[in-house]
Amino acid sequence: MGTYTNIHLGPYLEINKHKKQDVFDNIWSCTNKKCVNHKKELYDKFCGECGSKNYIKVVTRKEEIYPINLLDRNGIADELVDTNNKKNHVLVSNHTAPFERNTDNTPIDLTDIKINDELYWFVNHHAEAIEILNECFGKDNVVLKWGLIVWYS
Ligand SMILES: [Zn+2]
Repeated sequence: MGTYTNIHLGPYLEINKHKKQDVFDNIWSCTNKKCVNHKKELYDKFCGECGSKNYIKVVTRKEEIYPINLLDRNGIADELVDTNNKKNHVLVSNHTAPFERNTDNTPIDLTDIKINDELYWFVNHHAEAIEILNECFGKDNVVLKWGLIVWYS
């Protein structure tokens, strides 16, 4: 397994909220209350333990909403990348920005940096994605920032 060091210097989105959604699963389960298989997930129409007819039960579970999956479901794939930050979801652009920096053994000159221009580019370039994220997590929880992120993949 190789470890690749990713370095991002520039605009990013931080989502300061974890949100869960209900996921519904239909499972087969035994109707017999005295049976060990009662309410357990089974994979047949009849219970292998007591022979009762199984029924379909809807079970609900909570599942965390991952921003990337949310965007995927809304037709936006591979536009942003989650940097696997431990606390919050931190998303960077997966598109080449006009201010893209080469971090490969070369100095990164920040003397004339125009942070606001870069933030402006990000907001415009990813407007649709930001709108979807705002709607799900709340505008106040989707924060545009500029900075340095180092992560491993
Ligand atoms: Zn049973």
